[in-house]
Amino acid sequence: MRFSEEFLSELRARTDIEELIGKFTEIKHRGSRTPVALCPFHAEKTPSFVIYRDTQSYYCFGCGAGGDAITFIKNIERLDYTESVRYLCERAGMNMPLDPVDDEYNRLRRRCYEANREAARFFYSTLSTPQAEKARSYLEKRRLSPETVKRFGLGFAPDKWDALLKHMKEKGFTETELVSFDLAKKTSKGGTIDAFRNRLMFPIMDLRGNVIAFGGRVLDDSKPKYLNTSDTVVYKKSQALYALNFAKNNSERKLILCEGYMDVIAMHQAGFTNAVAGLGTAFTKEQISLLTRYCDELTLCFDSDEAGKKATKRALSMLSSSPLKLKVMHLQDGKDPDEIIKTQGKEKMNTIINSAVNDTEFALNDAKGRVDTSTEDGKLNFLNEAVVILAGVDNAIERDLYVSKLSEELSVEKRAIEQQILKQRRFMKKAHENAQFDVARSIASGEEKISSPNPEKRGNVRAVKAEEIILASLLRHPDYLRKLSGILSAQIFVTDFGRRYFEDISSRIMSGRSLELFSFSEDSDSEEMSYLAYLFAKGAEISNSLEECKQCIQTLLEEKSKKNVPDVGKLSSEEYLELFRKKRDKKKTEGV
Ligand SMILES: [Zn+2]
Repeated sequence: MRFSEEFLSELRARTDIEELIGKFTEIKHRGSRTPVALCPFHAEKTPSFVIYRDTQSYYCFGCGAGGDAITFIKNIERLDYTESVRYLCERAGMNMPLDPVDDEYNRLRRRCYEANREAARFFYSTLSTPQAEKARSYLEKRRLSPETVKRFGLGFAPDKWDALLKHMKEKGFTETELVSFDLAKKTSKGGTIDAFRNRLMFPIMDLRGNVIAFGGRVLDDSKPKYLNTSDTVVYKKSQALYALNFAKNNSERKLILCEGYMDVIAMHQAGFTNAVAGLGTAFTKEQISLLTRYCDELTLCFDSDEAGKKATKRALSMLSSSPLKLKVMHLQDGKDPDEIIKTQGKEKMNTIINSAVNDTEFALNDAKGRVDTSTEDGKLNFLNEAVVILAGVDNAIERDLYVSKLSEELSVEKRAIEQQILKQRRFMKKAHENAQFDVARSIASGEEKISSPNPEKRGNVRAVKAEEIILASLLRHPDYLRKLSGILSAQIFVTDFGRRYFEDISSRIMSGRSLELFSFSEDSDSEEMSYLAYLFAKGAEISNSLEECKQCIQTLLEEKSKKNVPDVGKLSSEEYLELFRKKRDKKKTEGV
């Protein structure tokens, strides 16, 4: 749902961010210009979470969480955008607007839902025609019942260039629409063809059961094996999970995370209706916060081959800061759940689910698997790794349990292991405090050490700093855009990241749209909101003068010219002399 700017600014006026955050964490220096608090999003002992009253934003210098009131509620209560607005609305005693603003964006979204639903119908009905013989025999081999096929809306995209296109045009959709919904593609020759051809089709649904995207699997050896819809007006793959629309209704608040569509479907057919899967990308923060809304316990069910183990470790490290109770299933011999159910039955699968181990045990087993504990050397290596793993377990009772087990298993004195763990914990605490101290010192000295989400920062530190000052100044002084016109443009930005934000901010300024953090909330994900909040935070620290911006523009031009230095070997001697002169002059002015 999209809200009008009037409504949002009213909501913002009635929401005090300090008071709101104060409900979740204790605030120090209440009422001052920049109150601080212990960050509610990561564990810390000294506060690095700063609230900016003037921009009604927050930014944590420890973990990089940041945003406006809506982002705060989204992340802390794990609600989606509309629900967060509703939360703040109720809190402020306001009514939610009944009708969504009927603008072009909403119209496009509605069309996209309609088109996807129609396409899903088309693929499903094609599955029972003679041309889908291959797809049907594949489903039979996988032993999927007609009920399962219907429930998941599986279908077939014909082996033709324009089967879906023709059908959709008859239903009143235009080529432009179909291309923008990623159901069709433009060819290099300017023609338009179906995006999915000769594939088994898996519709992807949102929580309300709307079809928002498709996954298509080949039925032969062609590549890629799976083809997925790119992001559209209704679909962001980093924010969706396959089959969560079915799995969310489990009353036990336990979910099983599988690797692929077929695993999930096989699990559901066997009665494990709480299985979900990611959508062909690395696991994201958005997906974690989505999971946390529907479960307290998450069991990872990835293949037991090397790739699967790696995926498990990556997911565990992503999930380690979430409040979820984590478990890992052990599937023997590189088998996937689909195969286990097919060959050994669902009882076997049930046993495997029930014997899933927690994340600590998984890490210990993994460490043990890599050494030979029958040798002294292997034993020692394993013990060292185990100490590091167990030092990370905060619960003393749980820790003690593992230490006892370990001491028995390796016939090492329990007290010796405990001492090592204690030492490791002290070391970790010290490292943590040092990191905290660094953060505090860098805030105090105005130099940030915190990581920037800009992937090009490495190697462009000076340019990125200048870009950030320009962007932060523009957010506070939109009139600078006009004052700097002629020297400030998207072309002078060195990093893509900076350029993208410049384009967004300047187009807002030029079209007179709001620059309040609040107004960015709807179209930005948590990471983008954090970065914007960081820019707002930076704006509070810098001088914000026009002069400073001009200097930064100069810096960017210099940095850019450094990057544009051509390959010296390919220059004519005149060009080479010119370059040499430029460099010499620059050194002079810098006084080097
Ligand atoms: Zn934090």
